[in-house]
Amino acid sequence: MFNRRRFLQSLSSLPIVGGFVRLGTAASAKRDYFKELGVHPFINAAGTYTTLTASLMEPEAVAAIEYASKTFVRLNELHDAVGKRIAAMTGAEAAMVSSGAAGALTAGTAACVAGSNPEFIRRLPDITGMKSEVIILKSHRYGYDHAVRNCGIRMVEVENKEALESAVNEKTAMMLFFNAADPIGITAQEFADLGKKHKVPTFNDAAADALPIENLSKYLKMGFDLVTFSGGKGIRGPQSAGLLLGRKDLIAAARLNSSPYSDSLGRGLKVNKEEMLGMMVALERYVKRDHAADWREWEKRVKLIADSVQTAKGVKTETWIPPIANHVPHLKLTWHEADLKLSYADAARRMREGEPSIEVVPGTAESLNIGVWMLQPGEAEIVAKRLREVLKG
Ligand SMILES: *Cc1c(COP(=O)(O)O)cnc(C)c1O
Repeated sequence: MFNRRRFLQSLSSLPIVGGFVRLGTAASAKRDYFKELGVHPFINAAGTYTTLTASLMEPEAVAAIEYASKTFVRLNELHDAVGKRIAAMTGAEAAMVSSGAAGALTAGTAACVAGSNPEFIRRLPDITGMKSEVIILKSHRYGYDHAVRNCGIRMVEVENKEALESAVNEKTAMMLFFNAADPIGITAQEFADLGKKHKVPTFNDAAADALPIENLSKYLKMGFDLVTFSGGKGIRGPQSAGLLLGRKDLIAAARLNSSPYSDSLGRGLKVNKEEMLGMMVALERYVKRDHAADWREWEKRVKLIADSVQTAKGVKTETWIPPIANHVPHLKLTWHEADLKLSYADAARRMREGEPSIEVVPGTAESLNIGVWMLQPGEAEIVAKRLREVLKG
């Protein structure tokens, strides 16, 4: 019989020194993979940016992933059960875990184009004979609409309500709304109403807008047929997961147009049991969080960093709360680049190149912005100290 203790004893009595023996002991749990790989961790004073790996999961979500990793289950049975739980938590008629919000955009569009028709599902992205147009406000065009165009549809851009109404025809598959652009052009509520009036499914991309918590059900209540949120942004679920919420028939069709079905457009949008369970548990935690306490903590961090740079000459600080996406307190710093002989881009670069490395909000044309909500305990102090050094040259 295998006896772990005796096995370890025998290992340590081997005439081998250093690395190998350590591998066989408890120390193996402490392998520093990033160090081994020469990959450089950093302090995230930016926010939930995919290229910066966005958010860190809570231990409960990680435990759910580990739990799921140890047992086989039938994938569709788990998909159904997790979907039901998520629907109950969000007030949706139905829900599914998607491969991020971008995956949800593709799966949801495929549902509106091919529906549950097996022949259509197999044929996508060839949309011959199917509804082939998606209407979007011109001011809402954005990079992520590629995930909609994936389905072979044509984007029809309109500039106002009248143009939208006259653009609807028998080829219209869906109307896409970019939530963070609300209310440029048409408000979210008007958009949902127009969809109902013309019997066209409406899809609201609210990927980065899970805060305030009411948003989880707000857009469904407005009448949107589909809504997506990223799993790995504010909800702090798996980075590769997301939520697709909405009408029962459309969620069922989105499932049929996705993995695990081999001959589907969305087969590459794979979600396994680990992400499903991790996503569900992260959402449970998110729904139960004390969001007011989180907000107070973020304000405290903003103040701590702002206070620490008050002595830097000519630097102005203010709390900046983006109106829709990433609707949390950030710190905005401005100064005269010429007076300080320091550009915003150089300040960001010096933060990155310091030790420890710190990432600030990307895009530093007019100010230097600090996102505090992804900081770990104790890191606001480190950011404050380093920022003071950078600003004082
Ligand atoms: C982040 C984001 C996405 C993509 O979300 P993932 O979960 O990373 O796939 C889509 N749309 C908007 C508006 C986003 O902010």
